[in-house]
Amino acid sequence: MIPERPLFWKGIPLFHIRFFSRDFFGRLYFVLGQGLGDHVNGFRVLHEIRTRFPKAHCIVYADQRWEDLVCRISEIEIRWFPKAKDVLSREGTNNPYDQAHEEIRTEIRTMKEPSYLAYAHFPMPDRYARRETTLEATARSIGLSLKEAARPYLPVKAEDLAWAEGYLKEHALEAGKFVLISPYSWENKRWGKENFSRLIDALRDRFHLRTVVVSYPEIGPFGNTGVVCAYDLSLGQISGLMQLAGLYIGLDSGPSHMAAFFDLPMVVVFIEKRTFPFEVRPLTPLGLYVVESFFSTLSIPGVETVLGAVTFLLSLKKKSPIPECPMCTKLMQYVLSAADPVSVRLMCSCGSSIEHDRTSSVHVKKKTSCPATKIVEKTGYNFVEQSWTLETLRSVESSIETNAPERVDFLFSKTDKREWGVWDLPPGSLDIRPDSIWEWMWRKGYRIERIDLGQDMTRFSFARGKEEDRHHKTLERFRIPWGNTLLVAAEIQYLRWFSYETWGTPGSLVGIVKAQAELSSWPAEIRGCAWAAFLAQKSMRSFRWLIKGFLGGLKRQK
Ligand SMILES: [Zn+2]
Repeated sequence: MIPERPLFWKGIPLFHIRFFSRDFFGRLYFVLGQGLGDHVNGFRVLHEIRTRFPKAHCIVYADQRWEDLVCRISEIEIRWFPKAKDVLSREGTNNPYDQAHEEIRTEIRTMKEPSYLAYAHFPMPDRYARRETTLEATARSIGLSLKEAARPYLPVKAEDLAWAEGYLKEHALEAGKFVLISPYSWENKRWGKENFSRLIDALRDRFHLRTVVVSYPEIGPFGNTGVVCAYDLSLGQISGLMQLAGLYIGLDSGPSHMAAFFDLPMVVVFIEKRTFPFEVRPLTPLGLYVVESFFSTLSIPGVETVLGAVTFLLSLKKKSPIPECPMCTKLMQYVLSAADPVSVRLMCSCGSSIEHDRTSSVHVKKKTSCPATKIVEKTGYNFVEQSWTLETLRSVESSIETNAPERVDFLFSKTDKREWGVWDLPPGSLDIRPDSIWEWMWRKGYRIERIDLGQDMTRFSFARGKEEDRHHKTLERFRIPWGNTLLVAAEIQYLRWFSYETWGTPGSLVGIVKAQAELSSWPAEIRGCAWAAFLAQKSMRSFRWLIKGFLGGLKRQK
């Protein structure tokens, strides 16, 4: 949901697009994140605001490393951050923001014209439960719903494209018939040069695609046949090549966010597990995100899995895009595993996954195990399935809608997330997670009645009730299995803040409380969330936030 009134962040008043007319003439501050990806995502909000409020005086704090792009945006006042740490040199600051915030705070206080902060790192605290990117969640804080424009923004120039066309000619490359690879990033996000090298050979052998590598020269040359090492290009030149490439493969790094601006199919390999891929993913409807090592015992995704993702992406016709999740309708963009060339297991951010088979005549792998046996019960109705398919789901759905049973139970077997990527299921098999079912049942008018934690199974019982009963039920607190811990939360609280069990780590729960406190809102909920975070993981950090949340709540009540 979009906030109904302007918020404050760390005491600084935020802009809110619904509260001002097109004639707004005041000052708006934008504090872009330090990285290249942060910049192109921030450009989106800047672009949308400038389009809606052409008379506003936009002041943008930016990093000089990306000057090439920043200076392309006309009619803004640019203020450079102090020098930042980067991939190559370890000198510089990791936090250039404090000084900017202080400056903004002072100016807003002293300026006569209306002045607001329009962009900084102030994403809404319910972003995890909504599985949003930081861009979407930050835009929402100022009342901006991006919809189709939920993509990074890149100021492109015609001369970039002209340069790239010349470059292709020079290297005997054909537009749309080459892959652009960006293999360099911070050490904890790298996939390894050897893996990229194997990928480049496989792309040539299987798809007759040549590869252009864009990188810092520090990675060293690639000796693969047909490869072009395009090192040390300007960001503009890279954007020119992106416009002509047929496919992009990269990491959780800046160039991937640049590529997401274009209608370019892309595969992004996620390595680092500290951030949630859904939060930092390059936003594009044409991308697949390989997260195999998040849901398997592998330390990094395998080459075959990345190739499987590429094969699947290249097999899609323009009119049959990446499939939607049958539970929540988001795109199933996360690749858990792939057995190229047979099948690829695609997951939605809600946790549900489906095995896709592109070649139905191909021999189906034997069924070896089943992730979750689920039983739906209702007097007179029993659905017992070893493994669900879309058909099972539809028949369950139509039974619920036609018969409106008083009570529906779902039984989930307890599974280790590190096994999700290796389930060997037949094509069409659907694995559904409790969060997916819970939200799905909520939309059908059912409320959770009880959760029975068994030895190997957990039973979620949903009930249809009168409106007042339902309201009462939403206040009751449940013990909810959540990763390797238990969350104590009421239904409405769970669905609003915590329904990201697929990705969640107990430590991340404090992040919700922190965001609530920084945006100084939700006084009634901050204590409940702080308490849930503390119970899920009793640490000094969660204890500190429990105290802060409690004091914050008291202060509000006065
Ligand atoms: Zn989903």
